[in-house]
Amino acid sequence: MVESPAGRELVVGGRRLLNFCSNDYLGLAADPRVTAAFKAGADRWGVGSGASHLVSGHTAAHAELELALAELTGRPRALLFGSGYAANVGTISTLLGERDHVFEDRLNHASLLDGGWLSGAGFEWYAHADTVDLAGRLEAHRSSPRRKLIVSDGTFSMDGDLCPLEPLIALAKRHGAWLMIDDAHGIGVHGAQGCGVVDPARHDCTDVPVLVGTLGKAFGTAGAFVAGSEALVEMLVQRARHYIYTTAMPAALAAATLESLRIARAEEWRRTRLAEHVVRFRQGAAELGLQLLPSRTPIQPLVIGASGPTLELGAALEARGVLVGVIRAPTVPAGTARLRITFSALHQPADVDQLLAALSETARP
Ligand SMILES: *Cc1c(COP(=O)(O)O)cnc(C)c1O
Repeated sequence: MVESPAGRELVVGGRRLLNFCSNDYLGLAADPRVTAAFKAGADRWGVGSGASHLVSGHTAAHAELELALAELTGRPRALLFGSGYAANVGTISTLLGERDHVFEDRLNHASLLDGGWLSGAGFEWYAHADTVDLAGRLEAHRSSPRRKLIVSDGTFSMDGDLCPLEPLIALAKRHGAWLMIDDAHGIGVHGAQGCGVVDPARHDCTDVPVLVGTLGKAFGTAGAFVAGSEALVEMLVQRARHYIYTTAMPAALAAATLESLRIARAEEWRRTRLAEHVVRFRQGAAELGLQLLPSRTPIQPLVIGASGPTLELGAALEARGVLVGVIRAPTVPAGTARLRITFSALHQPADVDQLLAALSETARP
């Protein structure tokens, strides 16, 4: 149980620990300006939205945030959802029905898998980031007149690698499939002004028709959005049950997110510092002989293998004042339990060094 706000350090059980396990990559979850916007939003709008979006829960603050998210992603429209989980399940189950086909990366987030299963569509896994495998599976359904949807994380949440975006776009076009990219861990972190792995200057919604981003990670608040064409968003408004049958997020949260979005776009130093931490950590880990996955993002997993030793290593690091994520099956494939180490723009270089020192005392190369 955590006894302090999200930040560079967390107080757990009365002890102050360096925090290397949150998704608050830009360090905005407890930023005083975002908190002030939240308070001002509560003064202006109260706490609850009072109803679903389609009844009376959709305020000017929600509308303004949707416009700002559409602008960030270079899409005609964006639609807010209560969470990334709801956005993914609601969107996939709206787009597909029983006789359609969904093609999902083996390491996709649970909410993308659940959306595919709930839709009732024929479900095909493809090997992680393997567009040759995907091409073969699409080929096998070439003659099917039904809808096809290819779904991938933009930045994979437990491995930290990026999806093979260009080949995915090419394959989707060749096979007349929709492409859905969930950039929960990339939005705010990569690209110009934090636009994410899908750069709107290069890829519009004919390339990536369905783009999902979450607000609870780099933007430090909560909720999610789907960005795309006017037609896509209208279809979701009319039919996505996870949009229609749920209370709209508080307007104050939309107001706070507008402020964190503004900061995320303007303060490039946050992305620069994150990138510096990644380089520093990877160099240090290499000197210790530790094998990291080939990630260039603030998600830096150290795969240990069996669950027991991974838990022990996590506890040993915690005893040395360092908190990391300990991730086991079924979140990751059995036998690939890992420490999921994440960086924040609030970390200092000395924090990275402290993490490396703790690893040098505890981790076996
Ligand atoms: C965290 C995450 C989600 C879920 O988002 P929430 O807003 O936390 O429900 C969806 N997709 C991916 C890839 C995620 O990492």
